[in-house]
Amino acid sequence: MTAQEPIQPAEGCASSTPGGGSRREFLGTAVAAVATALTGCGKLSHEEFLQHNFRELSKDEVRDVIARLEREYKEKYGREVKVTNTAPLPGVIFGYALDLSRCIGCRRCVHACVKENNQSRSPEVQWIRVLELEKEEGVNLQHADQYYDPAEVPREGHFYMPVQCQQCKKPPCVKVCPVGATWREKDGITVVDYNWCIGCRYCMAACPYGARHFNWGEPNLPPDQVNPDTHYLGNRPRPKGVVEKCTFCIQRTRKGLYPACVEICPTGSRKFGNLLDKTSEIRYVLENKRVFKLKEELNTQPNFFYFYGV
Ligand code: SF4
Ligand code: SF4
Repeated sequence: MTAQEPIQPAEGCASSTPGGGSRREFLGTAVAAVATALTGCGKLSHEEFLQHNFRELSKDEVRDVIARLEREYKEKYGREVKVTNTAPLPGVIFGYALDLSRCIGCRRCVHACVKENNQSRSPEVQWIRVLELEKEEGVNLQHADQYYDPAEVPREGHFYMPVQCQQCKKPPCVKVCPVGATWREKDGITVVDYNWCIGCRYCMAACPYGARHFNWGEPNLPPDQVNPDTHYLGNRPRPKGVVEKCTFCIQRTRKGLYPACVEICPTGSRKFGNLLDKTSEIRYVLENKRVFKLKEELNTQPNFFYFYGV
């Protein structure tokens, strides 16, 4: 494929589409100038604009898309960025458990996540929110404070509850997406195709956990801070106008590594593993601790659990 002149539509909205899952089919018959008028936003090359949903791409098309992205990242950041598309591992469904009795609210997980996943630094986009709650109130989110001072933790009479994407088995975010830009993978990770996302933010409104984040501006990622080990559906640098979220560090966990937040946590609050593996730590937690799910009454069926260490 040859590099082409970028389409430069109007300011102010997300990447593209007149709406509906068949926008590429529709646009297949349109001239580029018409496409420009319809997309209304962003700065897309013709190749990017005419790219299909990631799930519909042939192996050759995936290879071309990845090569194009790596080329674009090299131009933008002046360094090699590797984009992988490692598939779900057979026999694996990932699960996560958080020990509320151990978390001290230090927020190291928040910052490790930002670094690992190439989030915008300024303004900083954070996929993990740590809530400070009152012991007397228990898990009462109306009394939660996410803007507490981490230098003061742990505060007397309080406990801490990190919240991130719960990787729901019945994700409302997926249901509402009008173009199928987000879906649940076989290993239980809900992902976003940033090249297909139209930035309508329906998924943000539908997510009961506040786990999705919108890039209002061009993400500010200094070249020397780019993590070059990326996944197409995970931590590759995102454009302005798309929604992003935690993917259990898909670029790491599909290679057998722990998510960055699990690795950094100084208190061992975070447990992660394969729910289908009877010998895994996550299965031990589920079978031996009193676990609960956040907002269980909504029937989103998270694969993210909370428990008290005792
Ligand atoms: S790093 Fe661990 S202890 Fe610190 S806030 Fe995150 S989960 Fe809690
Ligand atoms: S927590 Fe929100 S973003 Fe994550 S899968 Fe559930 S509904 Fe979707």
